Amino acid sequence: MTTAGPDQVRSARRAQLSIRLVDVVGRLAAGTTTLVPVESPAEVEVVDTWCRGTGNSVLAVHPDAVEVYRGRLSDLDSILPPDRMPGRRLWLYTNFHCNLACDYCCVSSSPKADPRVLGVDSVAALVTEAGEAGATELFLTGGEPLMHPAIAEVVAICTTAAPTVMLTNAMLFRGARLRALDSMPREALTLQVSLDSATPDLHDRHRGAGTWARAVEGIRTAREMGFTVRIAMTVASRAGGEEVEVERFAATLGIRPGQLVVRHIAKEGEATQGIVLTRATLVPEVCATADGIWWHPVGATDEAMRVSADLLPLRPTIEAIREEYLGYRRRGDVLAASFPCA
Ligand code: SF4
Repeated sequence: MTTAGPDQVRSARRAQLSIRLVDVVGRLAAGTTTLVPVESPAEVEVVDTWCRGTGNSVLAVHPDAVEVYRGRLSDLDSILPPDRMPGRRLWLYTNFHCNLACDYCCVSSSPKADPRVLGVDSVAALVTEAGEAGATELFLTGGEPLMHPAIAEVVAICTTAAPTVMLTNAMLFRGARLRALDSMPREALTLQVSLDSATPDLHDRHRGAGTWARAVEGIRTAREMGFTVRIAMTVASRAGGEEVEVERFAATLGIRPGQLVVRHIAKEGEATQGIVLTRATLVPEVCATADGIWWHPVGATDEAMRVSADLLPLRPTIEAIREEYLGYRRRGDVLAASFPCA
């Protein structure tokens, strides 16, 4: 008598699994879910392939079971436009220290913050891997990126790889930092300067007396140096219509129409009020800091938003983020179908 080898055992188990899927999922009512026990990643793949081929969907993968939904659920391509697909943008927190200490800073940056500088080698490795995984836009943030000891090198690496936006408060454009700025390319780099209002009051209230005037001076300097500049406002609410005033003021500084980003204050870091964000409610934008990979730059010191303590390899982390986000969206679809209110 011959004994079945490991390959035969595996293939028999996969056949049994397919039969069980036909039986269990076939009897499910449309729009409902069931747990299918699995013992290995290969079996997860069997379930996934079977679902794709039969018009059903994998809702979530648990350590020992796959949650199967009877019917089709949207995939990520149909949920998000291509430019918002997690991994298309890579955010890099160059460092966490900052010359300012704004009262709503989502990552608690300040002159006293631990710098947690992202090294040049790490930047190079991340940018290379992100490019291989499909990244087409790079963003440098902090803290104040100009306080990174090798920011010109960091910018050179990034701009060689993809169009890059560097966020700055525009208040350190002097001395060696001005020379570093001047060495940066004008073509592939955009400077995104924080300016919360068209007059000093609101901006200075959050960021410190005199900061508005110095930011405006920095914008003028950057424009004279030939940089593309856009403005980022951080607001508690859009109800006041302040953005119209800011856009008008930005035009007087030579900033093109449409070069305004409006961000809500998020209840992260120093902010005691603001929008509450979670992984389930926030479209991810892959973000690297010296401490790992995070769901989104707005939560880059919030442990609940940390996806991995390892910077590299990046591609599996991007895949995991996509899968997790798809799971949240699919659960939303299922709940919406389960609780029609009228
Ligand atoms: S909000 Fe920006 S400028 Fe203000 S402390 Fe944080 S990193 Fe610095």
